[in-house]
Amino acid sequence: MNERYSRQILFSGIGAAGQRCLEQSRALIIGCGALGTAHAESLARAGVGKLRIADRDFVEASNLQRQTMFTERDAAERIPKAIAAANHIREINREIEVEPEIADVNHSNIERLVKDCDVVLDGTDNFATRYLINDACVKHEINWIYGAAVGSYGVTMTIQPHQTPCLRCVFEEAPPPASAPTCDTAGVIMPIISIVSAVQVAEALKLLTAQNESLHRSLMQFDVWRNEWRKINPGPPSPECPTCGLGNFATLEAASGDFAAVLCGRNAVQISPAQATQLNFAELAARLRGTGEVKFNDYLLRFRTGDFELTVFQDARSIVRGTNEIKTARSLYAKYIGN
Ligand SMILES: [Zn+2]
Repeated sequence: MNERYSRQILFSGIGAAGQRCLEQSRALIIGCGALGTAHAESLARAGVGKLRIADRDFVEASNLQRQTMFTERDAAERIPKAIAAANHIREINREIEVEPEIADVNHSNIERLVKDCDVVLDGTDNFATRYLINDACVKHEINWIYGAAVGSYGVTMTIQPHQTPCLRCVFEEAPPPASAPTCDTAGVIMPIISIVSAVQVAEALKLLTAQNESLHRSLMQFDVWRNEWRKINPGPPSPECPTCGLGNFATLEAASGDFAAVLCGRNAVQISPAQATQLNFAELAARLRGTGEVKFNDYLLRFRTGDFELTVFQDARSIVRGTNEIKTARSLYAKYIGN
C-alpha cells in the first residue's frame, strides 16, 4: 500500500479498491484558470493516474489571487498555463502522468481530447466552450462536470449522458453576450472557487470509483457573500433536447477557416489559423525584430509594436492585445504572422 494515499484509502468511500480505480483513470481538465488549477492539484494529489490539461492562455499577474499552483515566476516568464500546471504537478506527484495541451479547445480538437477520458471537468469561463464539451461528451458517452464561478456566486452540475439532463436540457441557450456578469467585469473571490471546485472534484472521485449512488444529482448553486446554498432538482433528461434527446451535435461541425474570438474584458482578440502549422520562433523573431520588440521562450513568442502586443503560440494561434476589434486583430495578424 502506498503511504502517500493512506488517509484516502482509510476513507470508506474510496478504500484500496477505489484507489486502484483512480490510478487507472484519465481525467481531462478543460481550462486551467481558477477552477482548473484547483481540479488539477486536487486530482494529482488524489492519485488520478493520468491528467490531461488543456488551456489556451499563459499565466499573468492578475491570475495569482485565485489560480492556485501558479507562481510569480510563471507570470513573469509568461509560461502557458497547461505547462505551468504540469511543471508544478510533477513536483507534487511524480507517480502520475500529466499531458499538457496548449490549445484553444474547439470543434477541431474536442473529440480527440475527450475520447479516451473517464471524466471531464469544466474549468472554462464561457458558454460556447461548455456547449462544445456537452456535445462531445454526450456523443461519446463521457461523464462531465459543469462548473462556473463569478463574484461570490457559483454553480455546478454533473452530467451523465442519457441518464441525467445534459447542459442543453437545463440551459437551452447561452445568455446573450454582455448580459451575464463575467470574472472580468464582476471580479471573483477565491472562496467560491474553492467551493465549486471542491464539489466538482468530489463528484469526479465518486464517478471514477463507481460510487454513482453518492452523486448529488442536482444543479447546485452557492453564494458565499449572500450566504445562499441551493440544490435544484433538474428532473429527467428532455426527449426534445437537441443534444441528448435528438443527437444533434451542432457545435462539433463548425465551419472551417480561421477562427477569431474577442477575449471578454481583456481588450484582446484570439486568432486561430485555418491550417495546422508549426512555427519556428527563431526565424519569426529574426523577421520581426526590425519592426518591434520581440521575446520568445520554448512555448510562445511575444511581439510588441506600437500599442499592440501579439502573443504567438507554436501552432501560430495568436492573442492580439490592445484591441477588441476582430478586423484590427486580423490585419495585424496578417501583417506580422501571415496566414
Ligand atoms: Zn439534453
